[in-house]
Amino acid sequence: MNICHDISLLQYNTFGIDVHANTLISYESNEELVDIVLNHLPNLPKPLLHIGGGSNLLFMNDFKGTILLSEIKIVEVVTETEDSVIIRAGSGLVLDEFISYTLSQGWYGLENLSLIPGQVGASAVQNVGAYGVEAGDRIVAVNCISLLDGSEKRFSHDECNYSYRHSIFKESHLYGKYAVVSVEYALSKTFIPQLNYGGIMHFLTSFGFTLEGVSAIQLRDIIISIRREKLPDPKVIGNAGSFFMNPIVDISLLEKIRTQYPEVPHYPTSHGKVKIPAAWLIDKCGWKGKSLGKASVHSRQPLVLINNGYATGNDIKSLSDRIQQDVFDKFSISICPEVNFIY
Ligand SMILES: Cc1cc2nc3c(=O)[nH]c(=O)nc-3n(C[C@H](O)[C@H](O)[C@H](O)COP(=O)(O)OP(=O)(O)OC[C@H]3O[C@@H](n4cnc5c(N)ncnc54)[C@H](O)[C@@H]3O)c2cc1C
Repeated sequence: MNICHDISLLQYNTFGIDVHANTLISYESNEELVDIVLNHLPNLPKPLLHIGGGSNLLFMNDFKGTILLSEIKIVEVVTETEDSVIIRAGSGLVLDEFISYTLSQGWYGLENLSLIPGQVGASAVQNVGAYGVEAGDRIVAVNCISLLDGSEKRFSHDECNYSYRHSIFKESHLYGKYAVVSVEYALSKTFIPQLNYGGIMHFLTSFGFTLEGVSAIQLRDIIISIRREKLPDPKVIGNAGSFFMNPIVDISLLEKIRTQYPEVPHYPTSHGKVKIPAAWLIDKCGWKGKSLGKASVHSRQPLVLINNGYATGNDIKSLSDRIQQDVFDKFSISICPEVNFIY
């Protein structure tokens, strides 16, 4: 366990917002976390905030409470058959390193999530997704410790209530009440490539591969190349990936937009509605590559807001507010931030 007071959060958020926290505690095991909850937290400043890699956070001010950070890095086989394996992964593992490890073992299913920043714990909270796969598709259980009394609680897949970038851990009755300590993923020993999303097939052929010929590691490498091409590296330019979620709207609204923009991209969802890429809406409002103060919209990917250097949380929020207003005025669509605002 490591406890730091009055600590800069610059290295703990990929937006590169320069704020401080009163206290930050990291822990390496379930037992350490229980000890922290029972014997340390009662005397430490509140509120509590559990972070991972800080790649989906926007700090609006100095954080006057206590931040928790998992350093649990276990990887355990829970059950294994000829065809599949259930792996328990510590919440403090870097998700991409864990994915690389699973592929090296011949365990498939997470390759499309390659290079998504952040930790395994947050992957279960955020239900991260990319190229047609969501973490929730592979998660069978999430093991947690209550930050109120240190008790253990295992959430089954169904209890996690997964949907697009959503889990039960984001719902108000549970938000901030549990620390995720490990996540159990069900992976296959047979590689079945998921290629029908985000132009992967196009890249595959342009890299000289066929559907039958590509291996999981090659698919991972291709996805990493596409992501490096499209998205700014947070180590160089502060950002938190997609700032907004893609809105899901009624078909009637899509039809209305189509009368003016027949080319509007859209994808059917399970409830007879359609998902419209927020990036397209933002682009149509003329924001691509534009700045407001110290914050900008990325020139290649309008869904990504960036810190031009020394931006505050309020600088980013001002830009986000303007974009939301413009999209609403033009399309009557409210786009919601994916990023977690921390006040
Ligand atoms: C360049 C870039 C690209 C990205 N691309 C994608 C993408 O393709 N798809 C996608 O879905 N996301 C993407 N993201 C967003 C981000 O990577 C994910 O949301 C990721 O899951 C955040 O992980 P983190 O460890 O950094 O969590 P943080 O940002 O630190 O926290 C995110 C949330 O999880 C909670 N949390 C974190 N760890 C725990 C824990 N152990 N217990 C309880 N709660 C916890 C926090 O309280 C917070 O609410 C991208 C971000 C960047 C910077």
